[in-house]
Amino acid sequence: MSSPIIQFEELALSPPLLQTLKDVGYEAPSPIQAACIPHLLAGHDLIGQAQTGTGKTAAFALPLLERLDLTDRQPQVLVLTPTRELAIQVAEAFQSYARHLPGFHVLPIYGGQSMSLQLRHLRRGVHVVVGTPGRIMDHLRRETLTLDGLRSVVLDEADEMLRMGFIEDVDWILERTPPERQIALFSATMPEPIRRVAHRHLREPREVKIQTRTATVATVRQRYCQVGVQHKLDALTRVLEVEDTDAVLIFVRTKIAATELAERLEARGYPSAALHGDMTQALREKTIEQLRGGGLDIVVATDVAARGLDVLRISHVINYDIPSDTEAYIHRIGRTGRAGRGGEAILFVVPREMRMLRVIEKATRQPITPMQPPSQATIAGHRLNRFKQKILDTLAAQELSFFQEVVGQIEQEQDISAGDIAAALAYLMQRDRPLQLPVEADVKPVHPKLADEARDRAEPDDRPSRRRERPREPVDFEVMRYRLDVGHQHGATPQNIVGAIANEAGIESRYIGRIEIHDDYSTVDLPAGMPEEIFQHLKKVRVRQYPLNISRLGPSEPERARKRPVPGRAEAGEKTPRSARTSPVEGEAKTASRRQREIKS
Ligand code: AMP
Repeated sequence: MSSPIIQFEELALSPPLLQTLKDVGYEAPSPIQAACIPHLLAGHDLIGQAQTGTGKTAAFALPLLERLDLTDRQPQVLVLTPTRELAIQVAEAFQSYARHLPGFHVLPIYGGQSMSLQLRHLRRGVHVVVGTPGRIMDHLRRETLTLDGLRSVVLDEADEMLRMGFIEDVDWILERTPPERQIALFSATMPEPIRRVAHRHLREPREVKIQTRTATVATVRQRYCQVGVQHKLDALTRVLEVEDTDAVLIFVRTKIAATELAERLEARGYPSAALHGDMTQALREKTIEQLRGGGLDIVVATDVAARGLDVLRISHVINYDIPSDTEAYIHRIGRTGRAGRGGEAILFVVPREMRMLRVIEKATRQPITPMQPPSQATIAGHRLNRFKQKILDTLAAQELSFFQEVVGQIEQEQDISAGDIAAALAYLMQRDRPLQLPVEADVKPVHPKLADEARDRAEPDDRPSRRRERPREPVDFEVMRYRLDVGHQHGATPQNIVGAIANEAGIESRYIGRIEIHDDYSTVDLPAGMPEEIFQHLKKVRVRQYPLNISRLGPSEPERARKRPVPGRAEAGEKTPRSARTSPVEGEAKTASRRQREIKS
């Protein structure tokens, strides 16, 4: 990696924000942060081409927090996101980065959440509002949200908003913002409709696109493992157990994560050490020497601390956290396969990072092949083989006559066979690493079909209708057919119907069944048992400015709803158990409101 490291201190951020960055353990700005922060601090409009995982949230949150006037309690920053999940996540990020800014308030606003709660918070005064376009429009129409004091607008994941049919809503909202406001538009791809929005609303935008240098890393075999965040540690220990490793270098994003992961591995019987920028030079060198000499086999490092690390015995590089840019990835995997030896690189990817995987694949000009986290059966097989081999090695290399005598004594004294004694010894030896493992405890890989869809979603594509015929995962619950008062003549598409219902009713898109669009109305299959409050709310939700005015048509034929391909937006993520006791509708709404309460404002 040749570019010099820029420090956060060089980016003209004030002491409270620098303190936050220290607290959260970020060592240095990611490339998108280094490039965007100065422009946004200077008040310029900006177009940033960046995907999830590059650190783009901090790239806009930090400079916009810096520019806030905390004494002015009307919304100064508005962030528009395609989904409620992202709205919550971005609001949480703002809250976290503002931990040393007393009196700071952020409010996530999305459908499916109590309007009165949102109104209460809005009345109390907030500095930053983060929301999905539909609910923001509602508040603007009711004049419960005013944008007179707005200084900055962020369009986050603009291409997703386009894909979900929200781009006209975004246009509508931008038209109601003060003319002198700053706009930052982030998008992984730049299809024409997004360029048009940028052209219409942004003034002399600075463009930030992180140049990715390509490099071949021919001696390193690259694999990726798609796994949910909560299963990462389990997947890691499984990989460590079955891979034929010498020394292993594991990469994480932050100093805190390096220390934590090393401790957690240690607790699971894998002696490990952290390597990060807060350690003294002497301690870092000592750790590297131990790794080089074979006194230590696993090091958990940050990018900065592992710069230039040259240890021949590193057989595996594991990207536990995906790197924020391709250069970092290329540098990381270059720590193995040194001096012409072969090396292994394994990348853990959570579903929302699949786009970044594609970008990395392009930059290394080599395929990164998928792998499943090793199953319990594979692990048990490996343990057994290793155990047998250990016995053979010991028989071949050790003088065992004393122990043979001991075994003989036990046989005679207790009248038991050598086989029984060997079984007891085997048990004692393997107590901490049992040779038989319960099969049901497997780490669930992300459902292969959903993984495919995540990959598809990663394809740059501005033609929302392409996905209309995609077969979807069958779902198993009672289905009700509803009528919506919007059809072809109103410009309704499956995408904007799914987008509106998913965001406003809190129904995950996979529960949204068959959609038929007629000239002046549409029908949609939704899980039965929708709470009245959500039903009433959905009546008022708009698609292309027209209220859905939803009404019940009657139970839908379950077989039809299950077996037919269901159109609509593909959703990346892990499959939840089918037999959810609550209706999917209630379950989602509850989760959302709980998370809302967790964001203290
Ligand atoms: P984002 O692309 O904004 O979704 O960020 C992806 C992840 O990177 C989040 O977990 C952030 O907390 C983390 N992150 C952002 N900036 C940095 C940084 N400079 N150093 C380390 N981690 C970071």
